[in-house]
Amino acid sequence: MLIKSIKEMKEIIKEEKAKGKNVGLVPTMGYLHKGHVSLIRCSKKENDITVVSIFVNPIQFGKNEDLDKYPRDINRDFYFCKEEGVDYVFYPSYKEMYPEGYSTYVEVEGLTEGLCGAFRPGHFRGVTTVVNKLFNIVNPDRAYFGKKDYQQFKVIQKMVKDLNMDVEVVGCPLIREEDGLALSSRNKYLSSEQRKSALSLSKALFHAKKLFEKGETNPEKIKKEMEKLISSYPYVKDIQYIEIIHPETLKPKEKVEKGDVIALAVYVGDTRLIDNIKL
Ligand code: AMP
Repeated sequence: MLIKSIKEMKEIIKEEKAKGKNVGLVPTMGYLHKGHVSLIRCSKKENDITVVSIFVNPIQFGKNEDLDKYPRDINRDFYFCKEEGVDYVFYPSYKEMYPEGYSTYVEVEGLTEGLCGAFRPGHFRGVTTVVNKLFNIVNPDRAYFGKKDYQQFKVIQKMVKDLNMDVEVVGCPLIREEDGLALSSRNKYLSSEQRKSALSLSKALFHAKKLFEKGETNPEKIKKEMEKLISSYPYVKDIQYIEIIHPETLKPKEKVEKGDVIALAVYVGDTRLIDNIKL
């Protein structure tokens, strides 16, 4: 069922909960792909009711980012959700979520400073605000986030802990295409030639993992090799960052250890892609 009104969504959840049902929420910006589907399947397995929210959240986009051209196709998404047995698709309008005079924001400090946070000021404030609102509307027992957006996953976990929210934040594995490309709605922007260059991200991550497994623990050496590999591809415009970080603090490591995460953000043409791997 497609629900556009906050009031109606809240009423439905109240009724379901009164029947003793537990609720899983999968927050998305739509243009669903196999990455989203894996989150939906996790939720279906662990909850009686699964809600997928589809909302391209304007306040998490910077001024010069791709808000206007972000791919949208609610009919396709709704069909996708139906096929997967999703119980409710929550699809509010901008005005429904942010009526005139809206002025409240949620901000997690620390974890949001590095990586994407350093290049996208205000991004995580937009994410935590909208996720907070979605949690208040859907009142989920569990909420599902992909580790494709590793920093986002850790930031949401921290918000839930710090604000004593009664939601279990579940992190789901990153889903890749067969050739290694991490699935993303933004892959739609890539021409077939650019897509070949986009493969450099996962290739560099896999190469880094191999170097580590062979005994390399110097992050600078690993990062340099990754940079060399990625910049050898055409259409690579800008490597925003390559960082080897502690999986919990997200702080850069001086010596690489098992369990660390290598995360990167790269512009291929005008498309900003992110990816990561756990060692
Ligand atoms: P988005 O619609 O891009 O905001 O993503 C919605 C949710 O799907 C987020 O929790 C993402 O981390 C997750 N997600 C997106 N792409 C993938 C992927 N390739 N593998 C796993 N989860 C993903």
